[in-house]
Amino acid sequence: MTLSVRKVAAVAAVAALGAVLTGCGGGAGAPQGAGRARMGTPAASGPAPAAPPSASGAPSASPQAGAPALVPTLAPGPNGLTPVFERARQRTEKTVALTFDADMTSDQGPRAASGERFDNPELISTLRRLKVPSTVFMTGRWAEEYPDQAKSIGTDPNFEIANHSYSHHAFKSPCYGLPALDEPAARADVDRAFAAFKKAGAVNTVPYFRFPGGCYDDRALRALAPAKVTAVQWDVVSGDAFAKDPDAVAEQVLAGVKPGSVVVMHCTHSAAPVTEQAVEKIVPELRKRGFRFVKVSELMGK
Ligand SMILES: [Zn+2]
Repeated sequence: MTLSVRKVAAVAAVAALGAVLTGCGGGAGAPQGAGRARMGTPAASGPAPAAPPSASGAPSASPQAGAPALVPTLAPGPNGLTPVFERARQRTEKTVALTFDADMTSDQGPRAASGERFDNPELISTLRRLKVPSTVFMTGRWAEEYPDQAKSIGTDPNFEIANHSYSHHAFKSPCYGLPALDEPAARADVDRAFAAFKKAGAVNTVPYFRFPGGCYDDRALRALAPAKVTAVQWDVVSGDAFAKDPDAVAEQVLAGVKPGSVVVMHCTHSAAPVTEQAVEKIVPELRKRGFRFVKVSELMGK
């Protein structure tokens, strides 16, 4: 009896996560909004973004826990819209950025409490062991659930933490069934995620933002303009969400990577269980092909 109830709950959980992770670029096809992605102009010396307010209300100075570091950003787009980065266009250097979305939505606390693993410390260990500099797009809710890991990732120079919203709700509707935020809530959601990183003790945070589901439009870009973040999409979908075959994920990545690519993967064991195994295959092969792994901040500075 107990077992069957658990089974039903697990199936429901997987279905719900499917909607969320498909919204992360785990599904087939291009991310929504990708066709609208525009390359901004690199802001030459990378002006410091406005840091989220500290608890006292005073602006934070970098580097400080939770305050985005001094890294290259893109200049705002037309009419001050939030700029969007998809991949670097440099042609000479074979660099690639592996990015990992640490997803957890604001209503998934009870599932985590009942044992579902939204984290993937084994993946982080492997990235460290293989010395693959990586960018983790973390939700604020994930940082609240796993503060020790958020701190560990956010104080390790191998990584940088970027903002994937607090709630993992949609910034443009429709977006794979994700609940939608209105404009004021959207901006507040971004600030709340930075505040969660700071509370966890993360230092290596960067002023980059990935829209849940990759869904955005001009209205969303306008709503986020005061946050002074650079939106980061991707050009390579790994297909790691709910994948069972790490070889298939690796093949999809290896087939898609070009110099300057941004690859979207996930750092959540329950919904992307073979990502670590796929990384074990992807990394040596891309290195054999002459690629160097970099964080998004290095890619954006090219
Ligand atoms: Zn996501």
